[in-house]
Amino acid sequence: MSQSPFGLAGVMGWPVAHSRSPKIHNHWLQQHGLNGSYVLLPVAPGNLKVALPGLAALGFRGCNVTIPHKVDALSLVHELDPVARRMGALNTIVVQPDGSLKGFNNDGFGYIQSLLDAKPDWRADAGPITVLGAGGAARAVVLSLAERGAREIRLINRSFDKAQALANEFGGPIKALPWSERHAALADVALLVNTTNQGMHGNPDLDLQLDALTVSALVSDVIYVPLETPLLAAARKRGNATVNGLGMLLNQARPAFHAWFGVMPEVTPELRQMVEATL
Ligand code: NAP
Repeated sequence: MSQSPFGLAGVMGWPVAHSRSPKIHNHWLQQHGLNGSYVLLPVAPGNLKVALPGLAALGFRGCNVTIPHKVDALSLVHELDPVARRMGALNTIVVQPDGSLKGFNNDGFGYIQSLLDAKPDWRADAGPITVLGAGGAARAVVLSLAERGAREIRLINRSFDKAQALANEFGGPIKALPWSERHAALADVALLVNTTNQGMHGNPDLDLQLDALTVSALVSDVIYVPLETPLLAAARKRGNATVNGLGMLLNQARPAFHAWFGVMPEVTPELRQMVEATL
């Protein structure tokens, strides 16, 4: 199937109007002088199985897939990258030269890159890691940390059964601990990650006491609205280095843009400021 010289991509979700992805990808298209556009694709849950097979016929190079389609889309692509398969969700689809669809998940790449952007000498094996939450974001964070060589990941979720199920599924360095142990589980960690929605705009603050955390630990939150969550503010005030969730969002977009448009774009201060202004 021949590729149109006009590069078309988009984000498929429901609702999708709030997505920052058009800002990010259209900025890069313009920056690299590429002829194309990245659009919103509002697709209601029942329509995914009709919408996805239409991508190639509509001339799309591919699309991002967001809530609520990340899991359902797995069974609708022809091929799956091994990382997306292990994560059990995809966030990017690439239309292949023969018109077939291949699914990827770049959330873990985005997360690791966000830590490296903030701390270039960061290492996953620097010490124990505590991760709070066991939802979709946690799957990407925990799997990518394990693949980067983390030796001990304490996975702590309000509903213990979900943390236990994730630890059983991924195995390796991941150990589930009960929610009641979250404060004590900060002792001796090199990295603390919040992947729950607590601290996100409109939600209560994360209920976590930082007393046991050493000042050398890096504290990261995958939330990006607000940019500085109450957890990150408390960590910064006591002297810990912090990383917010915007870097994960921006960096996960890079491999997708590369696959669709052939250029690996960069997360520049200008892009950051532009997206921050929309938060
Ligand atoms: P999700 O699958 O719905 O998971 C939500 C998590 O929050 C679960 O672990 C849940 O625990 C926990 N939680 C909910 N209410 C809680 C409470 N009152 N106390 C303690 N824990 C609670 O959501 P998700 O997709 O993982 O997203 C989580 C956050 O990550 C959101 O704020 C989202 O915006 C952010 N995110 C950011 C990026 C990025 O690129 N930066 C990407 C994806 C997601 P239970 O299992 O007990 O319900």
